Amino acid sequence: MKRRATNLIEEKSSKDAFDVAIVGAGYAGLSAALLFGRYLVKAVVFDSGVTRNFATKHVHGYLGFENVTPSALIKKARQDVARYKSVTMVKENVSATRKKGKYFTVRAGGRIFQARYIVIATGVRDVKPAAKNFEKFDGNGAWHCPYCDGLETAGKRLAIIVSGKEPLSYAKEFLGWTRNITVFLHKCRLDKKEKKEAGALGIKIVNDQVTRIEGKQGRLKKQLFCKNGRRYIADVIFYRLGYRVQSRLAEQLGCQLDEGYVKVDGMQETTVPNVYAAGDLDTDRHYVVLAAAGGARAAISIYEKTLKQAIDAEMKGHKSF
Ligand SMILES: Cc1cc2nc3c(=O)[nH]c(=O)nc-3n(C[C@H](O)[C@H](O)[C@H](O)COP(=O)(O)OP(=O)(O)OC[C@H]3O[C@@H](n4cnc5c(N)ncnc54)[C@H](O)[C@@H]3O)c2cc1C
Repeated sequence: MKRRATNLIEEKSSKDAFDVAIVGAGYAGLSAALLFGRYLVKAVVFDSGVTRNFATKHVHGYLGFENVTPSALIKKARQDVARYKSVTMVKENVSATRKKGKYFTVRAGGRIFQARYIVIATGVRDVKPAAKNFEKFDGNGAWHCPYCDGLETAGKRLAIIVSGKEPLSYAKEFLGWTRNITVFLHKCRLDKKEKKEAGALGIKIVNDQVTRIEGKQGRLKKQLFCKNGRRYIADVIFYRLGYRVQSRLAEQLGCQLDEGYVKVDGMQETTVPNVYAAGDLDTDRHYVVLAAAGGARAAISIYEKTLKQAIDAEMKGHKSF
């Protein structure tokens, strides 16, 4: 059987027709793209911006890349993918996806692309504190993931901005690193039992909203100004204000959600055949290594399917089989 980059899709004539369209060139999307490149599958990858962790200083927990910056890791990943000629990168936001007969259409940058398979790897978007100057400290003095960056709080004065259910449980995750914790409750309150527990653990509680942060970038001491006029001092800020799963495109195609995340099977296929999802948008476990693994699983599954179809089609023409 002949193998070439374009042999899986029938409409070879159109330059905008692909075997696979990948939406999102973060860790999941690029991981899928890399394998498609090696499989000689004609794929297009769309990306509109930066990965979720772009603002942080270092990536932790990704074997072989401990402490690299997210921008260095993504730059290397893009370069790795760019070596493979069957993969096209398009720096555009995908605004819509539709199913049209055997194909999916993808609208991006005023053009319509076609693909037989789609991998949606658009991640999640974090809700960040609305405090003035927050962006100055985002990823450089202010973080949200204790498993990734909790060590930054070791022995320091920690301010936690938190909303949602069980606000104290997030604060308790830092007790192994620091005992100097002040929690700012954003649109939430502690119940009686939690108040008692906070008192016993020495966690200070402030029922007020942080509206402004002052301090020098890269330096520890920060001033947090609250709505009621009070001022607090902290070295490090952590926040947990929730995130939005970027599931809009998957929902447009009719994919089911499971507790807000895109529902996938063991090989990343959604509830809509030939639509795959990978990365932060299909789970509440958010790690670079898991996102990359999800993207790889999707690519492997699509390749195995398409190769089998291509072999079956070719064998039909041979009567002896
Ligand atoms: C501050 C911070 C620190 C972190 N630190 C770590 C760490 O140390 N270790 C770790 O393992 N994990 C860490 N994480 C988690 C990690 O960033 C995520 O698990 C990972 O980025 C998920 O990869 P992804 O491919 O699913 O999504 P992303 O990496 O967010 O990539 C999604 C991509 O899709 C693009 N996109 C979205 N919508 C569209 C559209 N409509 N059209 C085109 N493109 C689109 C986005 O621009 C983005 O490039 C951290 C997260 C944060 C916020």
